[in-house]
Amino acid sequence: MDAHYRCPACLRADLAYSYDAPEYRTGNQFKLYECPLCGLGVTKPDITSEALGAYYADQYYGSRKGAMGGLINYLWMRKVMRAWARPPGRLLDVGCGNGSFLKAAAALGWDVYGTERAQGAHLSPDIAARICRDELPNCPFTEASFDVITSWHSFEHLQDPERYLKRIAELLREDGMLVIEVPNYRSWQARLFTADWLHLDVPRHLFHFSPESLRAMLERNGFAVQRISYGNAIYDMFGLLQSFLNAVTSEKNIVFDLVNGKARHRTISLFDWVLTILFFIPAGVLAGILWLGERVSRSTGTITLFATLKKQGTEGVL
Ligand SMILES: [Zn+2]
Repeated sequence: MDAHYRCPACLRADLAYSYDAPEYRTGNQFKLYECPLCGLGVTKPDITSEALGAYYADQYYGSRKGAMGGLINYLWMRKVMRAWARPPGRLLDVGCGNGSFLKAAAALGWDVYGTERAQGAHLSPDIAARICRDELPNCPFTEASFDVITSWHSFEHLQDPERYLKRIAELLREDGMLVIEVPNYRSWQARLFTADWLHLDVPRHLFHFSPESLRAMLERNGFAVQRISYGNAIYDMFGLLQSFLNAVTSEKNIVFDLVNGKARHRTISLFDWVLTILFFIPAGVLAGILWLGERVSRSTGTITLFATLKKQGTEGVL
């Protein structure tokens, strides 16, 4: 028996069953549904907040510090600065993790604030006072007070992203900018690897956005999308490399967990380690080739949408 779910992004079609995918550590199975029109993917069945919390074990937020974390923060900050082109102001990062991006922004003169509801995210003491440990709509921020609101790889985790967008529209200044980066469900890597795709990450990722579906959701909640940027070199390359390796090993996301300091919490067979080492270079070469193809065809593993508030009086005009 197939339930009918109306697409929550474009509201124009029913979602269709696409494929099954397991959570990579427990093996628990989930189903992917997809909108035939806007390309939104949705993880089913719906899961309670409590059950979902169990999938955010302490080790979910690994120890991505050092060079890799620094490079990712640099790429994100560069995206903000290029799009903003004004002096630094007040910045809010929704789902800020350990707050390292906020620290990078503060070093450049931004007045930074963040939200992070996951208790497993370990904040450094010098930034903790600026971070609200709750859902964004429950945080006591002043309305129309932020110049820039960013959200890096968080919207796909939200149970009710529209509730967040409505609150962001209230918190943003009239001439402010919203920047949302998410994995791209219409990327080559998502299409090619399906259940083996690193950035599918069910059930932590509840919504799998395409450019069209995130645009539709933003526009229905008071935003005008100004630009879509395709690609985040680190996320995209790593997504391709790890997904290739996932296609040959029985345990998934081995290199990813190794890089994030999480592999020690898992039991990985010697055979899987051997396969990982044998296929690492070929997978890296293939990943490089596909990455170029993704960039040229604007089908990258990551998308970044830059949006402003719809001007008063243009409400409902398309
Ligand atoms: Zn849709």
